[in-house]
Parts: sequence; C-alpha cells; structure tokens
Amino acid sequence: MSNPSPLYVDPVEFAATRHRIVVNLSGGKDGLVAGAIAMEAARKAGVADRVWTAHASLGPMEWPSVTVDGVRWPSASELAAQHSQILGVPPERHIEVRRSREVDGERVPFDLLTFIAERGDWPWLGRARTCTGPWKTRMVYQAFTPQVRALRRETGGPLMFANVLGMRAEESTERRNRQVWRRTTDNSARVVDEWLPAHQVTTAEVWARTMNADLPYHWCYDSYPGAKDRRGSSRCSCSACTLANHRDLLLTARRRPRLTELCALVERVRQVPFNPNITMAEIIALSRRHDAPDPGVVVEEGEDFVRMERDVHAALRRPPLWESKARTGTGELLHHTAGCDSCS
Ligand code: SF4
Repeated sequence: MSNPSPLYVDPVEFAATRHRIVVNLSGGKDGLVAGAIAMEAARKAGVADRVWTAHASLGPMEWPSVTVDGVRWPSASELAAQHSQILGVPPERHIEVRRSREVDGERVPFDLLTFIAERGDWPWLGRARTCTGPWKTRMVYQAFTPQVRALRRETGGPLMFANVLGMRAEESTERRNRQVWRRTTDNSARVVDEWLPAHQVTTAEVWARTMNADLPYHWCYDSYPGAKDRRGSSRCSCSACTLANHRDLLLTARRRPRLTELCALVERVRQVPFNPNITMAEIIALSRRHDAPDPGVVVEEGEDFVRMERDVHAALRRPPLWESKARTGTGELLHHTAGCDSCS
C-alpha cells in the first residue's frame, strides 16, 4: 500500500504518535544503528517504553556461534538479543520468532532451505520473494497480534506501529529510492509505517559508530573471529543468501561447507541454480582455488543444522511442489537485487 508522501518529517513527532515502535534486529551492523536513532527519538518523545525489538530467526541458515581458542563468538540470534539490551530494551520486550509447523502432531522448526527443497525453487525467482516476507516480516507482524487485540479496547482505534528497519540508501538503487517512511498496513486493527532511520547513514559511518562505541558486531564480518578488520562477509543474515555478492558466497563455501554442499544438492536434484549468475557447485569449486578468500574459521554445525539436513534430504525424495520457471524455461524470470534488512 502506498502512502501520502512525505508521511512524517520529524522523527520525534513520529515516535510520539506510535503505540509500538518495533526495531527489527538481524544481529547485523545496520539494525543496531537504526535502532539507536529510533530509540533516541522515542526517548525525546517520552515513549521509550513503547520500543520493542524483534529478531526473525532463520535458524541454521543464519550465521551461528563459533568457538575459537576457547573464546565463544555469538550467533546472529544471540547478538540480536545483545543489541536489544544495548538499546536499553528490557528482555521482556525483545522477541525472537521462528517459523514452525506441525508434523505428526508435534510442532517442529520449519527451515527456509527445507521449504526451498520442497518447493523446488530458489527465492531469487518470481515477483514476490518467497523468503523475506513469509520468513521475516509476517512472523514479526503475527507476533504482535495478541497485543493488537489486547490494546485495541484502550486505544479505541487501530494500534499505530513503527516498523524500524536497518536498510540504507547506499546499499542498492532500490534502497536509495525507498522512502524513509512508508505505510505498509492500514486497517481497523493496526496501522504500520515502515521507518528507515539509518537511510542516509553511510557504511563508513555505521562502522565508525560501531567501532567508536566499541559495540559488539558479528564475527562473520571479520577475516577471523576477533580480527576486528571487517575483511570477512559484507553482510550478516542467511549465510548462504541467494542474493549475496560473489566474495561473500566464496567465504560461506569455506566457512560453512556442509551448508553449501546441502544447497548444491538441492540445486542438483531440483535442477534450478542457487543464484541467477552462478551455481552453488561453481561457487564451491571456485572457493577451493588458491586465490579465493581465506575463511579464517570453519563452522562446526550443530544439532539444529543436522535436523535441517535430514529434513532437506527427506524433501528431495519427493517431487517438487512448484513448477519452477527456471527448470521449465517458461515465463518471466526476475532477479531481485535487494534482499533482507541485512542482505542485498
Ligand atoms: S538473507 Fe537472503 S535468503 Fe535469507 S531471507 Fe534474506 S534475502 Fe532471503
């Protein structure tokens, strides 16, 4: 849904009109900066107690924790919770959501790669990206439904939300053209305005703020955990994002070989390339060349990954649920150039 533009011009006035200010934290560098700007506006407006933080977890697709020389470096989910604390949000106002489904009467995690294997298509295809909306935006939206129901009696009208994202203009043309405020939902129960407080903050400024304040950031950004050189991945979200840049994918192939082998298996069985420009099999081969980036660390996958691996294998034994246009060679193939909050 479009909105009258410009929607708001003053962050403090905007914050003052919100019943809930929801800061989306992926565990990446940008969400914390956007959250800090949003929190500052909320404090000035006297509504800091209306700020919540949310992490939409992608489970074993996210960068996990690693332990190197006895030092444990947190996962993206753990870092999102730390970032929430740094913003001054109490733990009871930080929520983590993750997709699940019922299997044989039991609620079990449902992972993005299992969904991709079942469907037989990667999220870069088609008009609506099949990962960000259902796996992130909708999960956070649903998490606030009980509050919407409970508070509507008090507010006597729709609950006014700010949905704070870390997207920045410098990341891509699509993001440069994005409005700082955009109405995404408007119904009798809730009004949601997306807010990009860090839209004009450059990457250099994000890192300057992070380093000057000695804020914790994810190990995946460094050449090895603790290096503090930001010569690792340029982004921190799904380790194997179909929209990631070439170097990041090479690093992932060396840092998470079991994950990338699993992606290669999905593309081989489903006969749809992982990425519009290159296959995962090619990425793995290139990552083994002497001129590929040094991984610095290799992730030891945990139980959650092993469960996903099992689910993916089971899914691949069944026919795909979706007739991929990349497989059949029919229709229009669209390549999204911008990914999630922390990925493009
Ligand atoms: S990081 Fe990439 S693959 Fe993961 S949800 Fe975002 S756009 Fe999709």
